Amino acid sequence: MENLILDGRVVAQNVKDRLKDRVANLVNKGVTPCLATILVGDDPSSETYVRMKGNACEKLGIKSLRIHLPKETTTEELLTKIKELNEDETVHGILLQHPVPSHINERKAFEAIDIRKDVDGVTSFGYGQTAFGFGKYPSCTPAAIMEIMDYYNIPIEGKHAVVIGRSPILGKPVSALLLNKNATVTTCHSKTSNLAEVVKLGDIVVAAVGKPNFIQGDWIKKGAVVLDAGYNKGNIGDVDYEACLENASAITPVPGGVGPVTISMLLKHTVDAAEETLNIK
Ligand code: NAP
Repeated sequence: MENLILDGRVVAQNVKDRLKDRVANLVNKGVTPCLATILVGDDPSSETYVRMKGNACEKLGIKSLRIHLPKETTTEELLTKIKELNEDETVHGILLQHPVPSHINERKAFEAIDIRKDVDGVTSFGYGQTAFGFGKYPSCTPAAIMEIMDYYNIPIEGKHAVVIGRSPILGKPVSALLLNKNATVTTCHSKTSNLAEVVKLGDIVVAAVGKPNFIQGDWIKKGAVVLDAGYNKGNIGDVDYEACLENASAITPVPGGVGPVTISMLLKHTVDAAEETLNIK
């Protein structure tokens, strides 16, 4: 079977190309879009992710305000920093890199982000708006998955979408976005019985598990579309790519699939948020 490789780099470039004029327009009006990233501690992967996001901003003319706090930072200190950024009119988006050190109340910190600046879709208010169908900034990885399907004109309405994973930033919001596009959605998790049989029902399969090569080739129905949000140590996805390629009609690779589009959605949301401040949306 001829299968389509869903190239995230192409989709990400397309998103960024569409942002260039919007950034220039904002700068002409005296507003430079600005994303503040907060990194707490010295986790090397988190440092890499934050650097990639900051560099991607700068390449597009978006200001990257990088805040690096020591690993001993308390919840209260983090909340104070977030409040400061909420009040800073030159900052349009706030990204708190996840995970924060375990002594910090991460949920409390996420909830402290002003909804107007929640460009990474981490607040429960933002999630609720996304689920209701009028969220401005859904979490970036779910938004990326939808953007890839949109770019490649993958039909969603009436399809059975099976999402494996139900985290607040990934599985749950992507399930909501698919439902809002009129898919029939099944959300699986660690207590799901007969997972392989459930996944086999999927016309669209979204893997958001956090386990390398977890989704097996013979779980995939012939012709299904497979989107792999997983990003595990060694650049390995949650999907056994080679095996799933056999049955899938379309599939995202790792790397070069969902990851690059996730970053481009963060940039888009930051530009959207900057435009909101000028009422030019
Ligand atoms: P998470 O918070 O650890 O959630 C994992 C989910 O998978 C949970 O809902 C869990 O179920 C479920 N799960 C675990 N074992 C399972 C099993 N044996 N069978 C069925 N479900 C199982 O992870 P996450 O933050 O959503 O991330 C998931 C993956 O996406 C990771 O690889 C992560 O690195 C990647 N990710 C990628 C990007 C990107 O930009 N590409 C962004 C964010 C995350 P329970 O709820 O029952 O525990």
